Amino acid sequence: MKSASSRSPSVTPDLRAWWMPFTANRQYKAAPRLLVGAKDMHYVSHDGRRVLDGTAGLWCVNAGHCREPIVEAIRRQAAEMDFAPPFQMGHPKAFELASRVAQMLPGDLDHVFFSNSGSEAVETALKIAIAYHHARGQASRTRLIGRVRGYHGVNFGGNSVGGVVVNRKAFGLGLPGVDHLPHTHDLGRNAFSRGEPERGAELADELERLVTLHDASTIAAVIVEPIAGSNGVLIPPKGYLRRLRQLCDRHGILLIFDEVITGFGRLGAPFAADYFDVLPDIVTLAKGLTNAAVPMGATVVRAAVHDAFMNGPEHLIELAHGYTYSGHPLAAAAGLATLDLYRDEGVFENAAGLSAYWEEAVHGLKGAPHVIDLRNLGLVAGIELEPRADGPGKRAYDVFVRCYEKGLLVRAVADIIALSPPLILTRGHVDEMYSILGEALKETA
Ligand code: PMP
Repeated sequence: MKSASSRSPSVTPDLRAWWMPFTANRQYKAAPRLLVGAKDMHYVSHDGRRVLDGTAGLWCVNAGHCREPIVEAIRRQAAEMDFAPPFQMGHPKAFELASRVAQMLPGDLDHVFFSNSGSEAVETALKIAIAYHHARGQASRTRLIGRVRGYHGVNFGGNSVGGVVVNRKAFGLGLPGVDHLPHTHDLGRNAFSRGEPERGAELADELERLVTLHDASTIAAVIVEPIAGSNGVLIPPKGYLRRLRQLCDRHGILLIFDEVITGFGRLGAPFAADYFDVLPDIVTLAKGLTNAAVPMGATVVRAAVHDAFMNGPEHLIELAHGYTYSGHPLAAAAGLATLDLYRDEGVFENAAGLSAYWEEAVHGLKGAPHVIDLRNLGLVAGIELEPRADGPGKRAYDVFVRCYEKGLLVRAVADIIALSPPLILTRGHVDEMYSILGEALKETA
């Protein structure tokens, strides 16, 4: 063991050992921002300030922070049974949570495979899609189609179907047999649109081009985020998702909705599949599933997908895939308490009720310094800024830091400020958020 004597005894921890994810480590460690507490709509910073959470952590703490019923459920489960192996064994709460999730989802999205993160939920979805065709005697269907500017986590499958340039360029070739549809954001035609942009549904027709190029018999699935979140809050044009569904049906291609962000009330409906009234074949979930209190992901499939695996001899494992922590008891307990809270407090209804007010607040920033686009749907907003001459991302980063200093947590992705607050917020919180953001935009201009 290394000597502890090199560790700093100061209140600020020694920052050297943790190689932080998706962080400019050297920049952060020169001026760290540490969070030490959280309750409902607020964080508490290391220097004792209350910081309004404009991002629900990372799009995940939908019911607000440190909610007592969830805390208590985790505490009880940790004392009762910490872990149960999920391979050839089970425990009641994982089954119960799967049933509850299946009941919440629309249509016959009835079968739930648990994992530990959004990235794992995506890998599971992609593997199930390919194995589904294999199980039905169509083993040639192995191609996967994502979108430019899609984000589906960071593992090799999700990274490959994703289109975030910086996430891909240092990591080699990625998966073979992957193609990308165009992204759906067109500042020229849809700038400052409210809710769903009017134009761009025809971008789904690019799928026909890929079918012509590769032949449908080689394509397993198309994966999209109903709203592209982490790559800039791109709202789908009216009719776009429905058109994708029709094309997938025509060609026997599975449609996967990555609802890691849009799931659990973000748009005011339980899922984006409800909001847009488009039923995918597979849905990926994480984040809001446990209110982020314990990591958990889930991949939910329609009956026909599940049933295709259930035809072989009974003693055989139908899907050779899974994680040690699939359906972890602490996560399952947190998930059940979370779903109770969403239902009992009408959390999604609160989001739906505030969406129009939110939209007005977002568009109140029109004309603020360097704002070149405003996008919104449900309780999501993207505020796109004109990049500064000295480099992309720098302007939004400055706004993010200034907001934090002024008591508001926002997220900066490239030159876009993303907002996605806990769904329990009030009009007062909305006012406070946009007032601080407006000031920060002026002060950093
Ligand atoms: N898919 C989408 C749409 C996401 O937004 C994210 C995370 N922001 C992921 C997958 C990956 O989730 P995780 O970070 O939990 O692996």
